[in-house]
Amino acid sequence: MKNWSLALLTAIVLAACSPMEVAGTSDTAPSQADELALEALHQSLLTVDTHIDIPIELGTDLADPGLDGPMQVDFPKMRSGGLDAGFFIVYVGQTSVTPEEYVAAYSKAQDKFAGIERMLARYPEQISLARNPDEVRQILADGRLVAAIGIENAFPLGPNLEHLQEFYDRGARYISLTHFGHNDFGSSSDSRGGAEGYVEPEHQGLSDLGKQLIDKMNALGIMVDVSHTSPDSTLQAAAYSKAPVIASHSGVRALYDHLRNLRDEEIIAIADSGGVIQLVAFDTYMRSVSEENSAAIGQIREELGFGGGQTTTQETVNQYRARLAALDATFPRASVSTLVDNIDYVVNLAGIDHAGISSDFGGGGGIKGWDNISESSAVTAELVSRGYSEEDIRKIWGENLLRVWKGVEEAASR
Ligand SMILES: [Zn+2]
Repeated sequence: MKNWSLALLTAIVLAACSPMEVAGTSDTAPSQADELALEALHQSLLTVDTHIDIPIELGTDLADPGLDGPMQVDFPKMRSGGLDAGFFIVYVGQTSVTPEEYVAAYSKAQDKFAGIERMLARYPEQISLARNPDEVRQILADGRLVAAIGIENAFPLGPNLEHLQEFYDRGARYISLTHFGHNDFGSSSDSRGGAEGYVEPEHQGLSDLGKQLIDKMNALGIMVDVSHTSPDSTLQAAAYSKAPVIASHSGVRALYDHLRNLRDEEIIAIADSGGVIQLVAFDTYMRSVSEENSAAIGQIREELGFGGGQTTTQETVNQYRARLAALDATFPRASVSTLVDNIDYVVNLAGIDHAGISSDFGGGGGIKGWDNISESSAVTAELVSRGYSEEDIRKIWGENLLRVWKGVEEAASR
């Protein structure tokens, strides 16, 4: 990897521009030289996306990451988009908290692990599992892509945390305490989930079991993730954990009032723990959606047969995304600029060491300008245009997250 400095890039760009271009066209489309310099900078970064959802068919011919296909993330797109490392997600939705549903949740987690493990076994020359930050750098130095694993929702761990060690052994290095819907570990930002509709949380914030889980995660070296938890749970987790905590895919409440977004005090608490907020490219968490816009989205979903319990193929999901993008002319989605507004906000409030990036691709993520992983340099372009230094951009794109991960490991070994 080349280490381009921004000063050097500026020199290259200026040398390549004619005097007229330098004098008069800075507000028009970037020149080819600008684009080459930007691409060189972007490709030189160590980039980490902390939230990539997967279909359960991952690694089969139905969802083959070795091909440039309909998924928002595959190896050709990671390569062309300069995305080095992804946390692939073992997501299990929250259902009723019953013994039967605990068993079902564990089984669903098995399906997701199986998908990631199939991907790794099918393409060992292209991608490897990293269990710590040193392995991330080692795998990249060997020319391969990096897969890491995050668990979204602690529910499949079981009521006695009986599956925690197994998940750790299979590579899980962060766990989101909740998803939508409260669970035995703590209250969620949103009561959806389960068959009951709205439910009051049994615990305001973390339960004793939630604290026990954090103790064990601290001891193993698994990052505590507070994306999806309620403000009470977030603040308590940040205060209780002996290691830094993360928000693996969250936005800023002050910029858009959505239950999934973090309030200022949560952002500060995560930063004070030494942790990082990975700002997420999830359109409907980033802007208000008008009724007309919502109806248009509903219409597309209906036409594609979503929500009727049918199996959905990657092609259909891709069509859905294309049709959402086509709505931009009438109802503009959040854009890369909106994402960087979220990054700016966290940097201004908490400091440059506490902001990062996540896509939520495969799980609803995707915005104008960053709609699949091949377009990742657009985020770097926006950061450059807002005056972030090369060092800052390196922190935001991956070094902050790797520092936190390392800190969590060190806390475990103490
Ligand atoms: Zn999520």
